[in-house]
Amino acid sequence: MARTRVALAGSTGSIGTQALEVLEAEPGRFELVAIGATGRDPAALVAQAHRHRPAVVAVTDPAAASTVAESLAGTGVEVRAGTEAMASLAELADVVVNGVVGFAGLDVTLATLDAGRRLALANKESLIAAGPVVQASRRTPGAELVPVDSEHGAIHQCLRASADHRSVARLLLTASGGPFRGRSIDELASVTIADALAHPTWSMGPKITVDSSTLMNKGLEVIEAHELFGTPAGDAGHGIGFDRIEVVVHPQSIVHSMVEFTDASTIAQLSNPDMRLPIGYALAWPERIATPFGRIDWSTLGRLDFEPPDLGAFACLGLAYAAGRAGGTVPAWLNAANEVAVAAFLDGRIAWCDIPSVIESTVAAHDGAPATDAAAIVEADASARRVASALLNRSVAVR
Ligand code: MG
Repeated sequence: MARTRVALAGSTGSIGTQALEVLEAEPGRFELVAIGATGRDPAALVAQAHRHRPAVVAVTDPAAASTVAESLAGTGVEVRAGTEAMASLAELADVVVNGVVGFAGLDVTLATLDAGRRLALANKESLIAAGPVVQASRRTPGAELVPVDSEHGAIHQCLRASADHRSVARLLLTASGGPFRGRSIDELASVTIADALAHPTWSMGPKITVDSSTLMNKGLEVIEAHELFGTPAGDAGHGIGFDRIEVVVHPQSIVHSMVEFTDASTIAQLSNPDMRLPIGYALAWPERIATPFGRIDWSTLGRLDFEPPDLGAFACLGLAYAAGRAGGTVPAWLNAANEVAVAAFLDGRIAWCDIPSVIESTVAAHDGAPATDAAAIVEADASARRVASALLNRSVAVR
């Protein structure tokens, strides 16, 4: 059987390095044909190229691309440079893993679907910000969208329990609750960057770890679930509205999400938290890889707890539901405001509890522009960043 050709965008990040571990564990099934990264860590990219020998390496940053090209001279590895380099990998592969961080992943998402390839999507921001545009690209013949997000990978699996999507009653997204679960608004006023980066169950990059601490990650995942499964192009069929996508806090991160059917049967997907499982699932779908990642030892698993989210202390979750319901370019504004606010928090410019305020004030200034095409989404993202940055400069000056 021919091996599945894989391209990996964002190869030096958290998803990228874990995807390489999956590929190394299954050499008979997958062939890594291309890797790409922005170029923040050229040495890591060069090391990956030496170890995995892809045909092509894409580097967004031109200066970093020169460094990488010099280091790989004589190896036969082609180095592509510039802003379009990463998206150009799509045509080389059967499956593209999009592990780029943030809105910057939009090009790879659209290029992969437009090329009629399978997109293994870890970059949720592109789907959330550009929902209507991604849905159009998703209709390209051959295009497939399989999520690499533990919750959505779980729902993707649970939906296979029923042939009839009309029998889906609710999608239940589980949330660990992050490092601040159970704290009051007063207790949250003094949390530090180090506190926010200390996730109790998952090891992830800094941006998503902060998003987990505010529950914005779960809010973005609610919109992601709606885009993946609830829209006309989605896997659960038309009509799974936001009122049928619910969040359940589950501190152990063993149940990765659930689907409740109309007869009240609830199907859940369980494993220990290990992103290599959803990565392998998206790469091999509709088959499964033979290597276990996150296997449960039932003799030591212990208890599983569930509780409702605290919408008062974690305002970001409600902001995300509102943006998702509004649709159009509002989710793009929410996402951009969140990226600006999280970056400001990680730079020490604002407090953790300022993050939802910055997002709420930014989205309140939404200009009503429609989500007509990719250019409109890029413009919406830029407008929201300008508004959020201006708000930050004002509030930092006041402090
Ligand atoms: Mg997730």
